[in-house]
Amino acid sequence: MAELPVLGHACKRCALPLQNAQICGHCLNATPSQDHSFSLYRYEGTVRRCITAFKYHKQLQFSRLFGQQMANILSARAELPDCLVPIPLHPRRLRHRGFNQSAEVAKYLASALNIAYRPELLKRVRLTQSQSELPFKQRKKNMRNAFACRTKQLPKHVAIIDDVMTSGYTVGEAAKIVKRQGVEVIEVWTIARAISHY
Ligand SMILES: [Zn+2]
Repeated sequence: MAELPVLGHACKRCALPLQNAQICGHCLNATPSQDHSFSLYRYEGTVRRCITAFKYHKQLQFSRLFGQQMANILSARAELPDCLVPIPLHPRRLRHRGFNQSAEVAKYLASALNIAYRPELLKRVRLTQSQSELPFKQRKKNMRNAFACRTKQLPKHVAIIDDVMTSGYTVGEAAKIVKRQGVEVIEVWTIARAISHY
């Protein structure tokens, strides 16, 4: 645990590490749909290896380990979301992988923090190419219209859960769809924030 690189002070909206400011230049230029982003670690070294093992080699024990660490920090907050919504996988990818890593973390957090778990709220409507296989310039377009919101009755405060935030386009697209349904506060919680492309 001591080896894992904690993110530290970061942009309130996109979790990009910052020295002092509350909001980074990217978010000042183009405000993301989410109001708040929380990420536990920097996506590098041991964290990267653990997430790869979790996601691609079915090492599901990592959902508990990361979930516990995230819950330790988040449980100290005065206000928590009404529900947690994992970034959905397309059914074809879910069949191939056998599980949704974001859902595993969301389930753990929902139970640890006593928040409703609502995976049915977001649906993947398009089979997108894996973001990690694409150059950054194409990632935004790749995620466009990837999700649909399944209900019109959403709570006021929602947190979207994903494993890693890199360009932010995946969670940003999901947040945009949720916001259109009238949700007032949208958060994004991820295990790790990749910062190498900045
Ligand atoms: Zn930012």
